[in-house]
Amino acid sequence: MKLIEEVFGKISDSSKEFLGYPLAKDFDYRQFAPFLNVCLNNIGDPESPSTLLFHTKNIEKEVVAFFADILSSDMEKTWGYVTNGGTEGNLYGLYLARESFRNPIVYYSEASHYSVKKNLHLLNIDNIVVRSQDNGEMDYEDLETLLSMNRHRPAIFFLNIGTTMKEGIDDLDRIKETIRKYSIKDYYIHCDAAFLGCIAPFIEPKPKFDFSEGVDSIAISGHKFIGSPIPCGIVLVKRKHRNRIVNSVSYVGTLDTTITGSRNGLTPLFLWSFIQKHGKKGLAKRVENAIEIADYAEEKLKGLGVNVRRNPKALTIVFDKPSAKICSKYQLATEDNIAHIICVPGIDKNHIDAFVSDYTAELIITKTIEEPVY
Ligand SMILES: *Cc1c(COP(=O)(O)O)cnc(C)c1O
Repeated sequence: MKLIEEVFGKISDSSKEFLGYPLAKDFDYRQFAPFLNVCLNNIGDPESPSTLLFHTKNIEKEVVAFFADILSSDMEKTWGYVTNGGTEGNLYGLYLARESFRNPIVYYSEASHYSVKKNLHLLNIDNIVVRSQDNGEMDYEDLETLLSMNRHRPAIFFLNIGTTMKEGIDDLDRIKETIRKYSIKDYYIHCDAAFLGCIAPFIEPKPKFDFSEGVDSIAISGHKFIGSPIPCGIVLVKRKHRNRIVNSVSYVGTLDTTITGSRNGLTPLFLWSFIQKHGKKGLAKRVENAIEIADYAEEKLKGLGVNVRRNPKALTIVFDKPSAKICSKYQLATEDNIAHIICVPGIDKNHIDAFVSDYTAELIITKTIEEPVY
């Protein structure tokens, strides 16, 4: 048990300082500890009963309904389930998209999450990478050029509602304009809202990405802005797409509509308890608080005289990459010469101050070395 205590100690210490990933850390799900002593499995479709009785599907359905609601839909028009995370939700969206057409092409920007390429490889769908702009958003002119060369083929648009590195949001109106311009008859729109799915609905002006805009599917991560010790997510799709692939499996007596057979029965409980505790209002407030911390962080970093970039109301602040020592201490994700911090719940002004103070100290030293005073 000593080893386990050590592992726990290391994890809880290191989670105190990290600033670089979109993982909220203000949760406490210890009330669900009794569930660790029972079999739990939400095998198959959340709406269909199975031979196995130890599941939390009724709770899972409530979770899905909550997300359908904040994404401007309801359970009549949409269907969904609790996944293992954003990657599975994106895989599922792309899977339904592929099943909708013969010989489609997927368009996605180079700023997309690294898992998208792998998902496309698994599904074996033709795809084209679209250039991205400096703020992480898709380059619409490049999209137009690529689309115009393939206008006879069904198009699947994989859109980013918050890119991983810069929190760029693809502009649905611009995509729709291009669809009209080239009279694309068959198309499918999937939104990768892994991080922003439960944030964007509460931002003014609200980014366009939900079911009121006619999108076909949306993937969200549950362990990011909501927070969870076990990775999880939610995928929501137009019900008609799910009905297209529905299959019945006699062995477990349920419908095989999900990517995996056995599914986590614990994570729906976490998400459900968050919803019970916070509701829509609490979630909106959570977003407001996080934006306030991000405003603070942006201002502090700008005071350092380094390059600082932030998309409107984003929780992600991008800046010149500090030393490896600082990146490692704060577990900052880096790309080329930039790094970012993400102001998720659990991060407060003290964290930002500590980071800024470390970064300042480093900048003073570097400056002295670079510009010796004679
Ligand atoms: C985090 C993230 C993913 C992957 O989600 P997981 O929950 O880690 O599987 C996909 N896309 C974007 C934009 C993300 O930020």
